Amino acid sequence: MEENLTFYELRQRMVDEQIQARGIRDPRVLEVMRQVPRHLFIASEYWEGAYADTPLPTGYGQTISQPYIVALMTSLLHLQGDETVLEVGTGSGYQAAILSHLARRVYTVEVYPDLAERARHALAELGVTNVQVHVTDGSTGLPEWGPYQGILVTAAAPETPMPLLEQLAVGGRLVLPVGNRQGQNLQLWERRPVGWEMDEIAPVAFVPLRGKYGWKDEEW
Ligand code: SAH
Repeated sequence: MEENLTFYELRQRMVDEQIQARGIRDPRVLEVMRQVPRHLFIASEYWEGAYADTPLPTGYGQTISQPYIVALMTSLLHLQGDETVLEVGTGSGYQAAILSHLARRVYTVEVYPDLAERARHALAELGVTNVQVHVTDGSTGLPEWGPYQGILVTAAAPETPMPLLEQLAVGGRLVLPVGNRQGQNLQLWERRPVGWEMDEIAPVAFVPLRGKYGWKDEEW
């Protein structure tokens, strides 16, 4: 019975059934998904579904992504532990917490100051010290701290923003959903010594990216 399982046990089941079963193999990603308490990034009224196969509300109409999508996007970055990573779309801070254990330094950017503040608080409570939460338009990246070996965008862009491609280090990887309200494709970009390569990974559904290279309200 679900009620009798602890959050820890629910999380092990989440990884076994939703993540490993769907083909995510990176042992570091699986281990960190087993450890990081997803429920601490959402309001307690949603704790019952904290380890279910679904996105959940974070406030302001935004969502914390489905666990499988967090694992998939993270594993596409091929992190080894010494990288500087940028996340666009902090939301709850959960994805940033996952990245914090897999890279050296994480910069994450959010447009809503209240979400940023809550994410900072949740990360501090967990003792995470290598994540910086910035309040600004992340559609133009965060050039001050780049280049990045990995960039994750957790909101849907109309097109891949050029500044993000330019802030990738050579060999670095950018993962982002590109598309509209009807549907998006998860794209994986890798910077080469000359130019970039792109693969389309899977159809996905994210909230819209705002800001300079994001969606305008009336177009989404
Ligand atoms: N990664 C988050 C989920 C993100 S939902 C998590 O783990 O919980 C997408 C987030 O992107 C929302 O919080 C939204 O406010 C934010 N966002 C949208 N456009 C943005 C922009 N241009 N710059 C920074 N954040 C943005």
